[in-house]
Amino acid sequence: MRDEDRKIEGLEDFDIRGVELGSDPLPPSLSEDGRKDPDKLLRPQRFEDFTGQPDVVGNLSVFVKAAKMRGETLDHVLLHGPPGLGKTTLSQIIANELGVGIKVTSGPVLDKPGDLAGVLTSLEPGEVLFIDEIHRMPPVVEEYLYSAMEDYRIDILIDKGPGARSIRLDLEPFTLIGATTRSGLLTAPLRDRFGINMHLEYYDAEMLREIVLRSAGILGIECEERAATEIANRSRCTPRVANALLRRVRDFAQVKGTGKVTHEVACYALEALNIDEYGLDQIDRKILLAIMDKFEGGPVGVETIATSIGEDAGTVEDVYEPFLIKEGFLKRTPRGRVVTSLAYTHFGRPSQAPARGQMLWDEQDFSL
Ligand code: ADP
Repeated sequence: MRDEDRKIEGLEDFDIRGVELGSDPLPPSLSEDGRKDPDKLLRPQRFEDFTGQPDVVGNLSVFVKAAKMRGETLDHVLLHGPPGLGKTTLSQIIANELGVGIKVTSGPVLDKPGDLAGVLTSLEPGEVLFIDEIHRMPPVVEEYLYSAMEDYRIDILIDKGPGARSIRLDLEPFTLIGATTRSGLLTAPLRDRFGINMHLEYYDAEMLREIVLRSAGILGIECEERAATEIANRSRCTPRVANALLRRVRDFAQVKGTGKVTHEVACYALEALNIDEYGLDQIDRKILLAIMDKFEGGPVGVETIATSIGEDAGTVEDVYEPFLIKEGFLKRTPRGRVVTSLAYTHFGRPSQAPARGQMLWDEQDFSL
């Protein structure tokens, strides 16, 4: 590439030549499959190892097989659902099943068109590009993705003003796999460019029990069936949580017990970790109690809830709220979040919150 071409807007600090030559290290916005991934050992590598999500797995395996039979690149795939349900894992499985490499990046990392151009030009024919949190990609970068997805090319503007011209970079055919916890935030033009669109559901306790036992087997942990069931029941219907709890319970088993994860040790550890029988952790409880105690049960906006408990609003919305809604503790209404009668019962409180005026009056009486 000539020097003048490297003055492309947003590309200045990215050495495209390095990528074209396939040099190591990888571009700053890319990480190699599995690098620095503590969960790598536990990640299923093939569709047959992936527990749960039967519809998603069934359909994806057909699409992958068909693409391979035709010798074509798989259509772009959008995976959406709450965090920890297996989006990254599935994207790696797709690449494995296709027999191609995978490059991993994420929406917030691609903050200039040049970053995206660098990533796209580094792809080998047929490779998978996984963009996590694709909804957080800046709009100016997203627009460059459209032609890349549709025609495997990007047109990049060089210079500004009357001298501006665009150059075309041809790309190898590739499969984009986008993962998002917030598909509602994707723009319609981006969403429409994914030929395959899949939603991941929360897992039931039986699936999670299987996942816990599988992970215990891989990690060489002796785990009672009843202990696995206990961990599964308190895992927020999420494999990532199940695996994390298994590791923590193993710590307790080693230090407080014989090393074997028994039902007794599991209950003890989960109690010590402040995880109740519904799988609610401290933050879940803080959220529900804040709405009940500070906002009379709601409706209250998510930003206000987050501020009142010192959490980030995005985390409350993406990580905590979906599970609380699914379990029936919380409702989303046009005016804000409202706790349900189940939440009051769970905390042993009368299900009707006193009226605000009454509460203020009570407080005043108390302080006098
Ligand atoms: P996401 O990308 O949706 O946030 P990941 O794919 O990173 O979730 O999964 C989180 C963890 O849960 C990984 O360690 C993975 O091994 C495990 N996991 C997810 N889904 C499954 C599954 N169906 N079977 C076994 N383990 C799973």
